[in-house]
Amino acid sequence: MTRILAHIDAYQKSMKTIVKDVLPEGLELEETIFYPGGGGQPSDSGILKFDGKGIDIRGVKRIGNQLIHLTDDFKPSLGQEVEGEIDWDRRYQLMRTHTALHILCGVIWRDFGVQVTGGNMKPLEARMDFELEKMSTDFVVAVQRAIDIEVDEKRAVTVKFLPREQAFKIPDLIRTKINLLPANIEEVRIVEIEGLDIQADGGTHVYNTFDVGKIVIIGHQSKGRQNKRLRIRVEDV
Ligand SMILES: [Zn+2]
Repeated sequence: MTRILAHIDAYQKSMKTIVKDVLPEGLELEETIFYPGGGGQPSDSGILKFDGKGIDIRGVKRIGNQLIHLTDDFKPSLGQEVEGEIDWDRRYQLMRTHTALHILCGVIWRDFGVQVTGGNMKPLEARMDFELEKMSTDFVVAVQRAIDIEVDEKRAVTVKFLPREQAFKIPDLIRTKINLLPANIEEVRIVEIEGLDIQADGGTHVYNTFDVGKIVIIGHQSKGRQNKRLRIRVEDV
């Protein structure tokens, strides 16, 4: 299995590693700074350099039990050392957007006791669905006010790895459906916005809520009787 460095340090922008396998679709690497995708966050794009040349990586895809760095360019050979660099501007926008979604669901859980049913994001834009019968304009105004406060609070975002048994004892993790984790996962990655939100999560996030920038709720709509959607945009301050 490829070691996923983005799980350890989301701010690492480049790496040197070894080609583990070469497929028609792309390359398996020994370790990677490319986020493989998941939890609503798309995979990273970037470049790989070797032999004084560079090739484009347009994303990462799980093929069988391998993480493949997708490329249409010529490929390095097995065992060759390559230097990787992610498209940092795009990744940082995704980190801000991903963290914004934690703030949103943290606030809605704390203030209204409402669960998330799904979500998706692209750089600086995202949507999140909630188990709600009604979503009024008053609700949206209250949520907007609350998220503005949480951004200003500059709350720290931390990552830690806990043994499965210990993670299962954190009451707030139950709502993020930690019990759906495959039985063979022995260590759970926990992402916490101190004092606001805690989740079992594989994504990349910024250091604190202030680094997200301005979160604007740009729309809400019904997606079914017990399902209401909020759309947000993330802006530079
Ligand atoms: Zn996350």
